[in-house]
Amino acid sequence: MSGLRGRVALVTGSTSGIGLGIAEMLAREGANVILNGLGPADQIEKLRQRISQTGGVQVRYDGADMSKPDAIEAMVKKGIAEFGAIDILVNNAGIQHVAPIEEFPAGKWDAIIAINLSASFHTIRHALPAMKQRKWGRIINIASAHALVASPFKSAYVASKHGIAGLTKTVALEVAEFGITMNAICPGYVLTPLVEKQIPDTAKARGITEEQVVKDVLLAAQPTKEFVTVAQIAALAVYLASDAAASITGAILPVDGGWTAH
Ligand code: NAD
Repeated sequence: MSGLRGRVALVTGSTSGIGLGIAEMLAREGANVILNGLGPADQIEKLRQRISQTGGVQVRYDGADMSKPDAIEAMVKKGIAEFGAIDILVNNAGIQHVAPIEEFPAGKWDAIIAINLSASFHTIRHALPAMKQRKWGRIINIASAHALVASPFKSAYVASKHGIAGLTKTVALEVAEFGITMNAICPGYVLTPLVEKQIPDTAKARGITEEQVVKDVLLAAQPTKEFVTVAQIAALAVYLASDAAASITGAILPVDGGWTAH
């Protein structure tokens, strides 16, 4: 038990993949959770009930579109009004698009920067006043190995994730004396719907088969030759949320099977 009972966590993009795994593990450790993300209402309601029962905690859902600053503000303010504060903010919602720069649709660029980068600016600025009042807070950004290194055909994604690394370091400095930490977890490849969807596009952009994408592009980057798991990322998020991690702040933490050691 990491002592999260009574804490309140908002996990953006928690209806799938890494965010869902983090929300589940935080709930199991005793935190009340606000879920967010897209998907069919009936499936999300089942997730909400399951996570609430597993952790014996309160779980709410807010469907705010993370590309819309007004919706983000309303979600954070509602969470604070209902729970008193958002103690643990996990900025996880993210999207990807794979295409050469000259063919990269401008609308996709705007959406990726809005959801992967600007959304975190908005959640953070609205969540901070209540964290400062409580003199305790944990902000965990799910960045990527692409916050540290680049891959071709992912210009918007790599730019957004490098941006998150800069935001993490800057805000960590601004809030360090308020008992608030801010860190970025940088996963390598995790086999979630986000990665599954980009396999055909990467095959097309590079002129290779989908099997070759998995072996020669995705896992080739990771010396372990294994996908990182959702549980491994969630366990680090729980640790960063604990009191034991109070001195870890402004850190850009790779969990990438050795990828960025190259
Ligand atoms: P995923 O597609 O499984 O989940 C993404 C989540 O974001 C979903 O819940 C989705 O509904 C939500 N989302 C997307 N657009 C949204 C919007 N406009 N408003 C609200 N929610 C929205 O993807 P994932 O792999 O779990 O990715 C989660 C995070 O981890 C992303 O930031 C991603 O960049 C990062 N990441 C993933 C990998 C990987 O290999 N899967 C590696 C490094 C970093």
